[in-house]
Amino acid sequence: MKSFGEDEEKEGVDTEEQVPGSSPSASVSPDHPTGTDASSTSLPCKQTGKSRSKPGREDKRHTSDVASQGSVVSSEKNLNRLGYERTLQVKGTGKILQRKSEPNGNYVTIHTSKNIEEMRREEGFKLAKKRRPVTVDTSKAKTSLEALKISIKQLKWKEFPLGRRTACDIYWHGVSFHDNENIVSGQVNKFPGMIEMLRKINLSRAVRTMQELFPEEYDFYPRSWILPEEYQQFTTQIHMVKEKDATVNPTFIVKPDGGSQGDGIYLIRDPSDLKLMTGSQAKQGVVQEYIQKPLLIDKLKFDIRLYVLIKSLEPLEIYIAKEGLTRFCTEPYQEPSQKNLSHVFMHLTNYSLNVHSGNFVHSDSQSTGSKRTLSSVLYRLAAKGVDIKRVWSDIIALVIKTVIAVVPELRVYYQADIPPGKPGPTCFQILGFDILLMKNLKPVLLEVNSNPSMRIEHEQEVAPGVFEYVPSPVDEEVKVGVIRDTLRLMDPVKAYLDTKIMKWSTISHVLIPMEEETQEKSQDETGTLPSLCLKQVYPKYFKQFNYLRLVERIAALFIRFLGVKGNMRLGPTAFRTFIRTCKLSGSNFTMASVDILYIDITRRWSGATPDSREAGMGLQAFVEAFFYLAARRFKSLALREQVVSLLELCESQLGPQSGVEERRSLSCSRALPRTVKTQTPCLANPQLSSPAPLRRAASQDYRHQRFKPRSLRANVEN
Ligand code: ADP
Repeated sequence: MKSFGEDEEKEGVDTEEQVPGSSPSASVSPDHPTGTDASSTSLPCKQTGKSRSKPGREDKRHTSDVASQGSVVSSEKNLNRLGYERTLQVKGTGKILQRKSEPNGNYVTIHTSKNIEEMRREEGFKLAKKRRPVTVDTSKAKTSLEALKISIKQLKWKEFPLGRRTACDIYWHGVSFHDNENIVSGQVNKFPGMIEMLRKINLSRAVRTMQELFPEEYDFYPRSWILPEEYQQFTTQIHMVKEKDATVNPTFIVKPDGGSQGDGIYLIRDPSDLKLMTGSQAKQGVVQEYIQKPLLIDKLKFDIRLYVLIKSLEPLEIYIAKEGLTRFCTEPYQEPSQKNLSHVFMHLTNYSLNVHSGNFVHSDSQSTGSKRTLSSVLYRLAAKGVDIKRVWSDIIALVIKTVIAVVPELRVYYQADIPPGKPGPTCFQILGFDILLMKNLKPVLLEVNSNPSMRIEHEQEVAPGVFEYVPSPVDEEVKVGVIRDTLRLMDPVKAYLDTKIMKWSTISHVLIPMEEETQEKSQDETGTLPSLCLKQVYPKYFKQFNYLRLVERIAALFIRFLGVKGNMRLGPTAFRTFIRTCKLSGSNFTMASVDILYIDITRRWSGATPDSREAGMGLQAFVEAFFYLAARRFKSLALREQVVSLLELCESQLGPQSGVEERRSLSCSRALPRTVKTQTPCLANPQLSSPAPLRRAASQDYRHQRFKPRSLRANVEN
């Protein structure tokens, strides 16, 4: 696995990020402005005015004055041939400066220092006089209800616990997008298809596709085999590894596909110990490398539960909660041996399991007990000299990459459930990332929960055999903050005000992303709420991660050829149309071969996904077909370059509409424009045009292309 220092330039995130543990206090501490990241700071001045290309001395002097207070973002508008107006947003201060150039080339300030917050407050005040409070339908909130109620109260919003006949602004669902049917407006806290996408098999598949394209970037997910279909590969590979080196004795963890809370999980050391059947039915699941050397605290294994908000799919907006939870095992850890494989309190960190151990410690303190805040753990590690900024930036990278892996399929679900042109809500979702730190401090992704528990009470035995729910201060501290601040970010009034501010600061179609610091402060017009505990990481780190969004571009092609609204699968005719339109057939690849390719891939995938809603070619099968076509066409290149080349070819045949974030029809932000620029994954990334280290033969048989075992030993032994 890659060490921390590698490739920092390429994909590292700003190590000046505020780290949860960097404050001694267990509660979330306010951010320091980062100041170094271009995507979140200044935009280059748009060169429109004549005098602009040769700024006078006055200009330079004035700009550096501003810069001494903070950096600036600026945009300009031609007023006439000679003069133009300039708006500067002063970084870190939220102030707007407006200046006008005179025909002699000098600037005069025409409107100084109107603070964004002031404007926001004025507008908010005007609006508040006219408007009702934000309404939230909590009738389907289930176990998140308590935390949600507290959040709504803190925000002074209005709750509808039994639902409402007229539309609400926000619908809070406990399980899925479909908990309430027929929502035609507002916002729902779940994306269609998220549950399906984050099941263990689908997540493993999505990450594997990314591992094929970007093996080094996606080495944070343990090697996994899908059961039952990859049972043979699994056994063959393990035997090969053992034959090669008899001292290697890896352990594997077996997880049922739809399982949660540790249900049905077990460890094995020999493939023959796999339990493949339930009655006459083959068990669906994943068998995965077991991380044998986790980081221990107090000799106990623990994992991190991190809350991540996907605020929007298009444009992609990701936030990470600065505070999370850590869940501790209740039996001291030992490396797996045949004797201790069944000791769940030693190997599995699930709260739901360990709470039943006699050693479980319920603690009101955030830094002791079997469930602690993430900041308290990081603070403790920092005290031991661990570079927690590096750990935190690695965790941010892991989160962004994982979201990038699942977004393509989510886009397919989204357009099927909320077809373009039909009334529907917009979506956002809080996800629960389970992350293990290895002994060498590298974070490993265990799984992503589409419905992380938002309970703020825990079960306690108050008398022998009598269990009751009692408040859990650690859960409340973290979860109420996450829900409340998610609501603050999704606030429709705030979005409205943002568009007002955009009007003030948008000139010549240049949108100025609001300074993060300003955004965070300005969330709270009343001044009674703490600063946001959710931190934007994408598009903030757009530049570092955008090149990974290749499969999303394949998904954009796929969606374009789906045709019928609500469809998720390509029929044979649509596949042919795709081949024809993109001019991919020819004398050495006839339409008859195209049909055979379609039938072959679709048949195998329909076996692999027996619960699929419709017949036809799903996205994963299409991606496989695309890889095959790319390998045929660009034989001499490595896979990633093959795919980029074919994408460019197809996109050039289709015109601009196929750009990932240009499809207005798929927008999750239909209601209101956003304060970020349109993002289109770069077409010509220099990293992609450099030769990949592993050259892959462009085999004519696509079936052998998908499965590419990595060195097992390198990944098991850490
Ligand atoms: P579930 O959804 O049932 O909780 P997880 O994938 O989260 O399933 O696994 C349960 C627990 O097993 C995790 O919390 C972690 O402690 C442990 N675990 C899971 N995968 C691994 C792994 N690859 N290596 C080491 N421990 C693991």
